[in-house]
Amino acid sequence: MSSGPPATPASPAPGFLSEEGAASVASKLLARSERLCPECRGRTLGRLGHGYSNPERLRAATSELGAPLPTPLENPEDCELCAGAFDRIPRWVERCRAAAEGWEWATFRCGSRWDPERLAREEALWAEVGSSWGESVRTAFNRELGKALSSATGKPGNVDPPDLVFLADVPAGLASITVSPIFYYGRYRKLDRTLPQTRWPCRACHGKGCTRCEGTGKMYRESVEELVGGPLLSLAQGEGHAFHGMGREDIDARMLGRGRPFVLEISRPRKRTLPLEEGLRRISEGAQGRVEVEGLAPCTGGEVERVKAARPDKTYRVVVRPSVLEEKLNEVRLVLEGRPLEQRTPTRVAHRRADLRRLRTVKSVRYVTSDAESSTLEVRAEAGTYIKEFVDGDGGRTRPSLSELLGVALKVQALDVLEVHDGAEVA
Ligand SMILES: [Zn+2]
Ligand SMILES: [Zn+2]
Repeated sequence: MSSGPPATPASPAPGFLSEEGAASVASKLLARSERLCPECRGRTLGRLGHGYSNPERLRAATSELGAPLPTPLENPEDCELCAGAFDRIPRWVERCRAAAEGWEWATFRCGSRWDPERLAREEALWAEVGSSWGESVRTAFNRELGKALSSATGKPGNVDPPDLVFLADVPAGLASITVSPIFYYGRYRKLDRTLPQTRWPCRACHGKGCTRCEGTGKMYRESVEELVGGPLLSLAQGEGHAFHGMGREDIDARMLGRGRPFVLEISRPRKRTLPLEEGLRRISEGAQGRVEVEGLAPCTGGEVERVKAARPDKTYRVVVRPSVLEEKLNEVRLVLEGRPLEQRTPTRVAHRRADLRRLRTVKSVRYVTSDAESSTLEVRAEAGTYIKEFVDGDGGRTRPSLSELLGVALKVQALDVLEVHDGAEVA
């Protein structure tokens, strides 16, 4: 800490004031009549020289000028800038530890709130003595508190992003914490055609709860988000969860294959290291085969951006009615594959999305099998392609469509996502 006396007195430091103007600033500083503690007076030259604490800077300056050290304050609380805050850093360490009681944390940062009038007084002092080397009381206090907290707890400070941010409200004498969220990456399979990916607030009451939603506030009783997030949230003893999927499938489409990548974010977790085996067990117990999760692992918040920005191709299994002939399909696929499709926002989502025209490419269409009523196809398409509309044409809003080219009014009977081609495929 820079506020106490150093273990070995700083040796007279010829050259400490060698920078142009430093000697004159230092003499003005020593002549000031404000009541200042050695930390705050020395910090006026805080960015001059390296390897000094601020009280050592003050000593080096006086010895180089041959001046006496300013008379010490009777009480550190009399300091007009810090009011003794540096002297009380051990108490701040205790306050921070008390504020973090009951929270799991491994890394932290420190911040502080100061009386704006004192901050202004400090800047005025720099201006009046002409110092361009001043360091703000806030920056110095945050650093010194961080060092002290780090040595008291053995945990590294100044880590970004930290598990906890401590805020020392200096005028109020109170420490509080901001808890960073935790993030878990995984892939989910959805085997239920009635399950949305995320919570969907009731359209009638917007989540408050009404007769239509039977008081749940939701359009659907459950979602992948809740089935996955609920068990992990309770293990983390957190306050809430957010589910970030790499895109989403329609509610009535299953998500098969290796599943779809997602990041689950848990806010204000009391526990940050979760027993993942137990988490997976609870997810599978609650989901009853409707959702499966694999590859669950902690990740950083940066993964959210990556997962949301990804635009992977998808391969679908599409069951269409009536059935189509393999030869006919093979003729039209040559026309369709690799050629941009023009899709207007589908009628079924037009009530909640802007009516746009977009170009999307179907990469491949493959005939799989047929029975009397239906045929199964596999379609690989660019991210954002509306598959149902690619099949039925949506009244001419998607062109060309399979129906248009085959001359048959086809409907999608069932849709599954077989693969999200996110580049993590196993060879
Ligand atoms: Zn002070
Ligand atoms: Zn409702």
